[in-house]
Amino acid sequence: MPTPRRVINAKGPATVLGGARASAPVIDAVTAAMRDSVHIPELQGHVGAEVAKLLGAESAFVTGCAAAGMSIAVAAAVGGDDLAQVTSLPKPSHPRTEVVIQKGHMIIVGGCNADQVIRLGGGTPVEVGTAADCTDFQLAAAIGPNTAAGLFVDGERARGSGMLNLRDFARLCHDHGVPVIVDAAGSTAVAEFLRDGADLVIVSAHKWLRGPTAGIVAGRADLVHAAYLHSEFGVGRPMKAGKEGVAGVLAAVRAAEAGDDSARAQTERAVAANIVDQLAGLAGLTVREVPTEHESTAVTTVRIDVDPALANIQAWQLADATEAMDPSVALYDYEAAQGYLLIDPGFLDDGDDEIIAAAIRQVHERAQAEPFDIAEAPAPRFATLVERVQNWRTTGS
Ligand SMILES: *Cc1c(COP(=O)(O)O)cnc(C)c1O
Repeated sequence: MPTPRRVINAKGPATVLGGARASAPVIDAVTAAMRDSVHIPELQGHVGAEVAKLLGAESAFVTGCAAAGMSIAVAAAVGGDDLAQVTSLPKPSHPRTEVVIQKGHMIIVGGCNADQVIRLGGGTPVEVGTAADCTDFQLAAAIGPNTAAGLFVDGERARGSGMLNLRDFARLCHDHGVPVIVDAAGSTAVAEFLRDGADLVIVSAHKWLRGPTAGIVAGRADLVHAAYLHSEFGVGRPMKAGKEGVAGVLAAVRAAEAGDDSARAQTERAVAANIVDQLAGLAGLTVREVPTEHESTAVTTVRIDVDPALANIQAWQLADATEAMDPSVALYDYEAAQGYLLIDPGFLDDGDDEIIAAAIRQVHERAQAEPFDIAEAPAPRFATLVERVQNWRTTGS
């Protein structure tokens, strides 16, 4: 049976690539947890207390992923800690189910749509504003007696300049007694979101926390408690984290908060510098280090600008071609339609730089000999992902 290809991950913690590459302490904690039985509520209580303290929140617990945490947070806002509601959501017995969300925040969260995540938790999405703009009077007008929560999405694709910021969004919600849930999946800065007005903050453990596949729900103690009930007996039950996930999250948060990542920073700098060196002088490629501006903890980033007229290939075609190789080289291609790619060194080790540079040189050489169609328009990003999953079949014997 062919094994799945190894991925050299210069893209970052995409869930479809398996999320983060975990550090040794996280792997050790996960392994140790797998050996034993434990009372899960006790484990969640111990881990939640320490994780909350380290992240600067009143309380916290661990769930299956950030998207799961969002549904569970919505369930907590809709159903509270009433066990009759906990055991009947997503079909509540009262009409107070509305979740206000800026229309520009209605994005794909991980893989599914934000509105699905809301509905799974028993919420009814109420979109405010237009795709690119939202104002305080529109939000105020959307809040009413049936509003259960406000959901604020901090994703990179939801940061349009026309959106209300979290402070304004939260102030308006709080004026009407409505709690605010923040999807901060790609972040680690829980305390900042709480300071800006979040009541519950959801982070992904397998993104820049470098933990196992899991999510953290952190914030106001009463809401976290209600959310925990929904995670054990309600809609969150099919989304639970196992003991290994809970234990791994604690190790990951401890490591992140200890903050000594000088060895990692050194590797990132060395790997980035070597890639820039090795890709110098290729026709149509401008390769340089730039400050990290996308959602990442990496200390530097390599940017590759592609001039198709000289390189005989477009940026997105280059990324597709390296990803199709074995090992698969995944570049940060979210901006590929704008003509550039990034290399995020956050999950790269010494030696990965050689593989990445060789893959890019090889594709470039192929394009010089046999030009790609530089007039071909890129497929929408989501369509590419969907096609891959649509074509999924079991492989091997
Ligand atoms: C990745 C991401 C999610 C989903 O995180 P998971 O932990 O994989 O469920 C949700 N929202 C945003 C903004 C994300 O970037």
